[in-house]
Amino acid sequence: MNNPAARILVVEDEESFVEALRVGLQREGFLVEVARDGPEALERFAQSKPDLVLLDVMLPGISGVDVCREIRSSSSVPIIMVTAKSEEIDAVVGLEVGADDYVAKPYRLRELVSRIRAVLRRSAVSRWSGSGAPGAGDSDQVLRVGALQLDRERHEVTVGGELVRLPLKEFQILALLMLNQEMVVTRETFIDRVWGYDYVGDTKTLDVHIKRLRAKIEPNSDRPERIITIRGVGYKLTA
Ligand code: CA
Repeated sequence: MNNPAARILVVEDEESFVEALRVGLQREGFLVEVARDGPEALERFAQSKPDLVLLDVMLPGISGVDVCREIRSSSSVPIIMVTAKSEEIDAVVGLEVGADDYVAKPYRLRELVSRIRAVLRRSAVSRWSGSGAPGAGDSDQVLRVGALQLDRERHEVTVGGELVRLPLKEFQILALLMLNQEMVVTRETFIDRVWGYDYVGDTKTLDVHIKRLRAKIEPNSDRPERIITIRGVGYKLTA
């Protein structure tokens, strides 16, 4: 997908972390903005409407926890909180400030980047499927993969220009596949993102929905060439 680069607001007061993050995240294709304390974080957040906030818990001025609460009072932007020790995560999670994920220092940049991507994908899916509040960076209305086109606003899917009707779950499954095209989406991810807490027991439910979806979007649903089964893992959409 040629989405615009995601903008990340890094809130961190330790200079060595700031520079490493700026360089590392830019190299991964993100646009990086930095705030060094709580008040600056809130100010920059209001000005620049980032796609994700990476928020250190221990900050001078206003703590990261309070910054998170303040942002959450007006926005559903994805927030990843950074704690000084893994033991602190439990305490911070217990405060239920509304963060999307937590990482503990010291972390590997690779791990952080994969968390960032996962949280961004998740928020894209919830925006796409209409279950999340509108967020910043919510500009792409239409996803396209090969002959498939999915229009979020109109809640419409076309295959080679032909309109197909999809119930909500199938629409969400397809959106998740399209947002991750050419990548495997695991069964757990589908269940977590599409069903969430509504999911009841039977793991065949996903396969039943995939089967129905294939019947509508595959040229020959007995020999799928768009939604590929990755045995024991999940599904992948190819162009
Ligand atoms: Ca700090």
